[in-house]
Amino acid sequence: MRPILALFLISVLLTPASAFFLNDDTTRKLMNRNTSWRTLTPTATATTSRSSMMLGASRFTSNRTNNNNANGINSSRRRSSPKPINAKDWPQKFPAKEHCSKCGLCETTFVQHVDTSCAFIGKGMSKIDDLESQVHGTTRMIQSQLQSTTDQYQDQYQDQYRHNTRFGVLHDDFPIMLVKGTEKNAQWTGAVTSIAISMLERGLVDAVVCIASASSDSDYNHEHDHQNEGRMSQLEPKPIIAKSVQDILRGRGVKPSLAPSLAVLDEIKHDPSIQRLLFCGVGCAVQAFRSPAVQDDLGLKKVYVLGTNCADNSPSSSASADFISSGLKVDKGELDNVKGYEFMQDFQVHVKKSSGDGDGDNDSDAIVYEKIPYFSLPGKIARSSIADSCLACFDYTNALADLVVGYMGAPLAESNGTGGAMDTSLQTLTVRNESGKEMVEAALVCERLEVIREASGTGKWQDFAVQTVAADGIVAEMIGKLPNEEGMPRWIGRIVAKVVTAVGPKEMNFASYSIDYHILRNYLHVISEWGEERGEASMPQYAKTIVREYLDRNKEFGELRDRVLKTRRP
Ligand SMILES: Cc1cc2nc3c(=O)[nH]c(=O)nc-3n(C[C@H](O)[C@H](O)[C@H](O)COP(=O)(O)OP(=O)(O)OC[C@H]3O[C@@H](n4cnc5c(N)ncnc54)[C@H](O)[C@@H]3O)c2cc1C
Ligand code: SF4
Ligand code: SF4
Repeated sequence: MRPILALFLISVLLTPASAFFLNDDTTRKLMNRNTSWRTLTPTATATTSRSSMMLGASRFTSNRTNNNNANGINSSRRRSSPKPINAKDWPQKFPAKEHCSKCGLCETTFVQHVDTSCAFIGKGMSKIDDLESQVHGTTRMIQSQLQSTTDQYQDQYQDQYRHNTRFGVLHDDFPIMLVKGTEKNAQWTGAVTSIAISMLERGLVDAVVCIASASSDSDYNHEHDHQNEGRMSQLEPKPIIAKSVQDILRGRGVKPSLAPSLAVLDEIKHDPSIQRLLFCGVGCAVQAFRSPAVQDDLGLKKVYVLGTNCADNSPSSSASADFISSGLKVDKGELDNVKGYEFMQDFQVHVKKSSGDGDGDNDSDAIVYEKIPYFSLPGKIARSSIADSCLACFDYTNALADLVVGYMGAPLAESNGTGGAMDTSLQTLTVRNESGKEMVEAALVCERLEVIREASGTGKWQDFAVQTVAADGIVAEMIGKLPNEEGMPRWIGRIVAKVVTAVGPKEMNFASYSIDYHILRNYLHVISEWGEERGEASMPQYAKTIVREYLDRNKEFGELRDRVLKTRRP
């Protein structure tokens, strides 16, 4: 019997029987969703009531001076004066070693909680299984639960369960929605920045943690850039505690490399003016931030978490600069003009550049896009451009955030007449709980967010996902093959991208394709690195369910897994 099947059977035995039946409450949830969100209008009144869902209300009413861990978690291993690890020693001296995602926790005294908080050590990302119910008051509906039933709901709710397995807990009243923010010079339409500003303007938070670019610091030495060609300081991440709109605006745009968002934890803990906080971050940082030990130690009155989707981040800003120059072949002289890049739904990487035709102020220059088909990227560039942590990550959709913004489930830009411009394309918004709802309402009241419609999708994605895994340069290395030196010539790559876009999955089904591809590839990575037992133990239940679905139905993926296990070093 396959170990993953055995794992599943054990989990079946351990799962309460009630979980396998759609009770009235679940049915009500499914039926209510898709209707209530329509009542969200810009005139809605933002509520100031506090959610009691997140890790229990008591954690947010604790006295800031009492920093004892109420749970006593791991207290025996505490050091009396925990010593932060120097960022320069990354990754060797960090507990998760090369799989450390540089989330910033270990660069603070909160390093004392690393055993129970880090997304890559101990139970790793499987901690999401428990944290999801602590944070949202409920867990996601997982496909395997439905498959275990023989009742009448099997067919009716198949799609809904498949959807939730991938996208996580949704607020009862909201399906995933397509939205637009109002901030200019952001990554997309600035939904994240718009919501963050609204939270501050409405007085719901005292401060916002976000990622600015190193060069936006007033004391940044720009001379340094000239001595350091290709450093791309505009894309170098720097965590900040923003207390003004001006500061929040510094967070606009994705800096495409690992960012130590939690490196500001000590500063927050010792700042009495911060009682209510909005934390913006990607899944791995949010997991550490959400851990009960970290929340207790911070002792804030209220915490909101605004997450983004995240996959395949670069280990450093120099690795992302190398990806742009060697992988995307953007001229080195143009690196200073690059404002970001995204792997888009049309199977091309869109590089966003300022034209450099203005007054030298990047914000007022026109934006131009260079598009490079995925198929034209050299296979060998993937390994150095993606951090090891991101190959062991199963949290693409940011399971523990209250509200999540992304783009992968939004319609293809070309099909809505925008020509692919990121600042006019729609974004997806996932509301997970009451705190998330409060944030959306605040942004609507401030007229900084527009809800367009419910997100939807078409097309099958499963075969595409397996084909993408089989063609992946990183997977090739796992089975002892050399990845391609060069990709297809661009003109051929463009034709292939057009064909695949035309016949492939669209919108939310494209998002499902992308989620499944990353889960399957990362499953192969963790079993290749750590073996089956430890690899699978690091995966949340929903990820194991998706892998099992493919192993059961797709012979090619099963063979690939067997080859990876055969090739791995013992
Ligand atoms: C590293 C990374 C990878 C992503 N990958 C995907 C993906 O594969 N699929 C998908 O659908 N969406 C992905 N996203 C989300 C997407 O790119 C946009 O961030 C999101 O749609 C918000 O756009 P916006 O215009 O609202 O953001 P803006 O208003 O421009 O705000 C940007 C926000 O991103 C934060 N940020 C910037 N750099 C980093 C960083 N290095 N780490 C953490 N936070 C950062 C800032 O703090 C700010 O809050 C990713 C985001 C990040 C940060
Ligand atoms: S991922 Fe974060 S918590 Fe884990 S070792 Fe790295 S810095 Fe520490
Ligand atoms: S892909 Fe996962 S591990 Fe990597 S930065 Fe994003 S959330 Fe963190």
